[in-house]
Amino acid sequence: MSALADLPPLRESLDAHGLLARKSLGQHFLLDLNITRKIARLAAVGEGDLVIEVGPGPGGLTRALLETGAEVVAIEKDERFLPLLQELAAAAPGRLRVEHADALAADEAALAGGRPAHVVSNLPYNVGTPLLVKWLTGDFRPAAMTLMFQKEVAQRIVAAPGASAYGRLAVIAQACADGQIVMDAPARAFTPPPKVDSAVVRLTPRADRPAPARLDALQAVTAAAFGQRRKMLRSSLKPLGGEALCAAAGVDPARRAETLSVAEFLALADQLGR
Ligand code: SAM
Repeated sequence: MSALADLPPLRESLDAHGLLARKSLGQHFLLDLNITRKIARLAAVGEGDLVIEVGPGPGGLTRALLETGAEVVAIEKDERFLPLLQELAAAAPGRLRVEHADALAADEAALAGGRPAHVVSNLPYNVGTPLLVKWLTGDFRPAAMTLMFQKEVAQRIVAAPGASAYGRLAVIAQACADGQIVMDAPARAFTPPPKVDSAVVRLTPRADRPAPARLDALQAVTAAAFGQRRKMLRSSLKPLGGEALCAAAGVDPARRAETLSVAEFLALADQLGR
């Protein structure tokens, strides 16, 4: 632990390596360790836990995660950060592995070596949603996820029926995991500051997560229903069976997508292809 405590401030590390943020990779850094320690606390990880972190960048969140005693596998696409991250690995011997890779293509289960793993990340905005959908619906099932998103995306993940933010992402996310916003982060918390505020969402995969075929059906139903969210289901779901599908699922065809609960969407998905 002492070696971690001896590391220079993050801003000094960035300057020493001559690193400037790249917009194309969604680089907005958290250089205040008070903030990254708070995220590590919210992730509730500690000694004996394995964390997969996407996009460690200069390593502020990585440092906070290592301070908890956890082991970290960090996936970073930008090779410029690798020397700096190796310094961090040397300060926490045997507990940080850095993988130079694109997280979209990463095989997290293999990286975790079959062990249960938490995912913790200040996500690059441009790939945040596809990465979340991958972790919600793919073969690799995280123990829990603690993820920083643009606030608007965070709200779309946890939105309830009737809310303007309620849509496909809310239905898919909530069918697969229980989630809540656990922290707000104003734009000024980041270097450089992004245009919008952010928020941390903590998600725990549900034991009754739909199987792949059921998820495919759910994707189809939500795509059709929210593709024409102002129309009644009898019309927006017409290509999938319209009135008959609604009747079989026990859902009033005069309703609109945004009023349906996740359970009602699942009931519609279960009638598809029957
Ligand atoms: N974790 C650092 C922090 O909080 O200061 C950096 C967060 S920054 C918002 C996003 C990081 O993800 C950057 O380091 C960026 O290079 C990296 N990144 C962007 N796209 C990536 C991808 N497809 N796979 C892995 N890392 C990626």
